[in-house]
Amino acid sequence: MANQVVNYDGSITASPQQLIYPQSVDEIQAILRDPVTYPSPVRAMGNYHSLTPCASSGGTIINMTKMASVVAIDAANLTFTAQAGMQIIDAAKALRSQKLQMMLNIEIGNMTLGSAACCHSKDALDGIQFGQVSSYVTQMKWVTPIGDLAEASETDNPDLLHLMRSSYGLCGIVYEVTLQIKPIEALHLTYLPIAADQLTQAQVDNLLDTSEGLICWTVNRTAIFQQRFRVAEPGILSSLLADVRRLLWSYGGAHAGQLIDRFVKDPTLRNALQQGDFDVAKLLYSTLHLGGGITILAPDKIIDYHATPDNAKYAFTFWAFPRSQWLTTYLAYLDFADQYFQSTGFRCNMPLGSYHIRQDANSLLSYTQDQEIVSIDPIHAPTDLAAWQAFLQAFNGFAAQRGGIPLLNQSPFVTPAQAAAAYGPRWQQFSDAVRAADPGGRMLNPYFAALLASESPK
Ligand SMILES: Cc1cc2nc3c(=O)[nH]c(=O)nc-3n(C[C@H](O)[C@H](O)[C@H](O)COP(=O)(O)OP(=O)(O)OC[C@H]3O[C@@H](n4cnc5c(N)ncnc54)[C@H](O)[C@@H]3O)c2cc1C
Repeated sequence: MANQVVNYDGSITASPQQLIYPQSVDEIQAILRDPVTYPSPVRAMGNYHSLTPCASSGGTIINMTKMASVVAIDAANLTFTAQAGMQIIDAAKALRSQKLQMMLNIEIGNMTLGSAACCHSKDALDGIQFGQVSSYVTQMKWVTPIGDLAEASETDNPDLLHLMRSSYGLCGIVYEVTLQIKPIEALHLTYLPIAADQLTQAQVDNLLDTSEGLICWTVNRTAIFQQRFRVAEPGILSSLLADVRRLLWSYGGAHAGQLIDRFVKDPTLRNALQQGDFDVAKLLYSTLHLGGGITILAPDKIIDYHATPDNAKYAFTFWAFPRSQWLTTYLAYLDFADQYFQSTGFRCNMPLGSYHIRQDANSLLSYTQDQEIVSIDPIHAPTDLAAWQAFLQAFNGFAAQRGGIPLLNQSPFVTPAQAAAAYGPRWQQFSDAVRAADPGGRMLNPYFAALLASESPK
């Protein structure tokens, strides 16, 4: 197939009639203005690290990765402006050379700034104020669905910026992004293991209230609370520790999980080996706990996944739950996962993630609009895609029933009813705003066409 596009984990394939790598804004305008040569839907694409078909099109895909230059680093006003195809990891490098950093050093280095500006994202460890990248976007420039130029900033048309921060490429193709930045900082990560079944709400509240940032990793039925604290200096071992951490997370865990799944077909034996693999992970976390944790520079959290071999790739899903409901839902999830294994023989082969993200109403589809959340993120290195995808759909049912909120780029197989229930009246508002921005449906792919609410009665 001439124009085949595959996402990171190979679970999504698109075959657009046109796959274009523009190098100028003029080229993007010309594409959007010529539906005969460049058939609809026209979708922007970064590196397709999304886990849903949000960037897919059978018409035209505009790959933005050749528009990846720094436009300006304003150290006085602490802003960074770059073209939308630049990857987070390259933005961090450019800033680091001036002892600066992004507000969120999101783990996925290959996310492009265009996607970060207009899609859901999450980073729990740097999310001292907000945990979503788009909330730090102070200005955005884009080409509209009919090929005109548009822009919005916090001072000039903030309402439009509020919509664009969750527009997912449905209201236009973002070509330039300005983000808030700050001086580079070191952070200390600690690891506290607690038996999941002994956790109390008071304990969870205390952990959340006393951390600048927090992720809970779960291996078997042990919760390991990874807390972040700001420190003055990174220490001499920081870059070595950062390298080891990156290797273990971007390669080691997923590779071990895939190996066991690939070579051990008996579910009971496979489960036992997976529990053993988790015991090794638990030992590692306990060692980190006893050693007092690690100190690194914040940008060293970013991982470059561009060369990860297939046998070390992982996938995940993310559903957000109000903080006050997380513990009950989390314990119910651990039982759900056990029951799912008993009935199907499938179990996720990587630690479960839970991210704490603070309340933030900076975008129309913010998943923390009304309150801070803690997520439940099953993570898995698939060798049997069908089994993983069946689990994802069963998990969606579990999460939707408990009032969870999915992300449109990171929660596969969400149904229209689940999206509408999760976002409430904002889903209709979003659907109407998308139709108003693109009445001809130039950018509307089947994924979003199926999800959006029907038109509001006039
Ligand atoms: C291994 C792995 C780890 C991950 N870790 C994290 C994490 O820590 N935090 C997190 O938040 N996410 C994480 N993700 C999810 C991923 O970062 C997001 O799905 C992100 O949107 C992907 O960025 P991308 O540039 O590849 O965008 P794509 O997947 O190519 O596109 C995503 C959406 O953005 C739109 N889009 C892209 N560029 C533009 C543009 N210039 N203008 C308008 N619309 C545009 C597309 O049309 C599509 O709707 C991870 C994914 C993987 C595979």
